[in-house]
Formats: sequence, C-alpha cells, structure tokens
Amino acid sequence: MIIVLSKNITDEQKQRLIHRIEKLGLTPHISEGVERTIIGVVGDERILQGKPIDGMPGIEKIINVLKPYKLVSREFKNENTVVKIGNKAIGDGDFSIIAGPCSIESHEQMLSTANFLKENKISFLRGGAFKPRTSPYSFQGLGKEGLEYIKDAGRKNDLAVITEVVDARDIELSYEYVDVFQVGARNMANFSLLTELGKQDKPVLLKRGMSSTIIEWIMAAEYIMLKGNSNIILCERGIRTFEDYTRNTLDLSAVVAAKNLSHLPVLVDPSHGTGRKEMILPMCLAAKVIGADGVMVEVHPEPDKALSDSKQSLNFEEAKKIFNKIRKLKWED
Ligand code: PEP
Ligand code: MN
Repeated sequence: MIIVLSKNITDEQKQRLIHRIEKLGLTPHISEGVERTIIGVVGDERILQGKPIDGMPGIEKIINVLKPYKLVSREFKNENTVVKIGNKAIGDGDFSIIAGPCSIESHEQMLSTANFLKENKISFLRGGAFKPRTSPYSFQGLGKEGLEYIKDAGRKNDLAVITEVVDARDIELSYEYVDVFQVGARNMANFSLLTELGKQDKPVLLKRGMSSTIIEWIMAAEYIMLKGNSNIILCERGIRTFEDYTRNTLDLSAVVAAKNLSHLPVLVDPSHGTGRKEMILPMCLAAKVIGADGVMVEVHPEPDKALSDSKQSLNFEEAKKIFNKIRKLKWED
C-alpha cells in the first residue's frame, strides 16, 4: 500500500500516521519527494482490513499496490532516482560511462587504465577483485591486493570505484576500498548477499541474472531496498537464449521495461551482453537512444594479455573512439 500525503500535512499528523502503521505491525518507508511525501507500507496488508487509516488527517490518497514489488516501483516514487556517488551521480540525466578491465591484474594495469579514463573524462572505474568464474581452474581474482590497486588508481585519478562482491563476507573486507558494490549476474538471486547490501550506506549496481525474468530482477532490487538502501543501479547484461553467435542476448527491451516499472537508473553492459567487440559501439548508441542511464564496458591496456574476458575487452584506442561517438550522439526523447 502506498499512502500519498497531502501537501499541508503537519509534522504531528505525519508522526501519528507513522506510529499507527507501526503499531499495526507494518513497516513504513518514507520517501520525501520534491512535490510530495509518500509512505510505502510494507508487511501483510490484510492487517489493515477493518482498521482503516484513510480517515486520518493529512492523507491525499491511498493506492493499493498489487504488484509484488513496491519500494522500487514507479507507483511508490514517480521521480527518477539519482544515485549520488561522492561528487558524481548516475541517473541525473547525463549518460554515464563505467569502464575498466574485467579483472584487476596488477597495480600498473589499474593505474594506466585509470589514467586513460581520466584523460577521456570518464568518471567511473570498474574492475573485479573476486571473480566468479565458470571454471574453478580459471583466474579467481587478486582479492584484497586487487582492492588496494583499484582504490589507489581511482583515488589518484578522481574516479569512483565499482567492484563486485560475490559473498556477504566480502562486503566488510571491500567496504573501505569501493564506492559502489557490484552484484554480478551469477549472484542476482543470492538473497543473503542482497539483504546485507541493503544495510550498507554505499550504492549497489545490480546486474540482471542470466536466466532471470525482468520481474525477478526488479524483485532482487526490492530485497536491497527493503533493508533501507535505496541507492540501486540496475544493469542489463544479456540473458541466455538458444543463440550462440553472441555470448548472451542483450535484452534492450528489458531496459525500457525496468525504466517504466521502477524509478531506479538502468545501465547496459554490452561487453558481457554480446561478448563481441564489434557490437559494443552500436549497442552503446542503442542504449542511449532507448533511455538507458549509461553503459558499462570492459577496457584493458593490453586485451590480448587479459586474464579474463580478453576477447570482448577494448584497447584504449578502441575505447576512446567509442566514448567520443557515444558523446557525439545527441538524443533527447
Ligand atoms: C563483470 O562485470 O565482471 C561480470 C562478471 O559480469 P556478469 O556478472 O554480468 O557476468
Ligand atoms: Mn568480465
């Protein structure tokens, strides 16, 4: 249930309403918008039957949400969420670019990548320290050592740092090194991880699971938001289909759906979404046209030597061309 408060509600009326909701054993989530304040009521709404609160003063209207997701829905908050990351933001109307290697491999690799990104006015550096690989024999990431490299490279070049956590135990270890926690496709439905991230005061980039429906993806965001963290960025990274020409099938229609269903910013990852370098530019341009809030692409100083995702990683020259072309495309809907 969503309660829209009237513009002239007094503080006392608001407090009384919140108290009443809590006394009924339900949890109020308050969203103070520019235009109006909204209370999302979470819990077993059947409790409210026969105990009407719509007669209480200060309520403009009550909307019953039948959808399984509430806090991330457009009904709960009509304005787009802008995720603030230090002095940077995602979802503020600018098309964001996140770039960096698949895996953090060395200090030099991260420093040269970060330096290249700064020169090209990119604000966000990615790189994995814990790599959830399909094979247990593949490179698994540098762990804490890698976190130190990415943090240092980010700090020296004024870049916000995004890195994946694969287990709830990684959160504490990673906390001081990262600006945004990434949840990878393989962990989208790791509900204990999502719940822990919901208690953090840093944003979460939530990738869509490779076999997840759009609604399952939105529900995963609801898990995070229910625990109090509303700084969530969704990221479409392709799903598994029968098609094997591309690594995955990049589902751009899911971006449109997610933007319509939720107020969260939505990014596109064409590197994992297609696995093919020649498709990265066209998919980035398409992402901009359909209203995505940005893209995440894999860039490596020497892609041939990359320890993971070598084939889909762009070198600096290729990346620079793509960044310029993305910026040149002016699109307003
Ligand atoms: C990644 O971004 O490095 C990654 C592992 O992606 P995904 O979880 O989408 O496979
Ligand atoms: Mn990768």
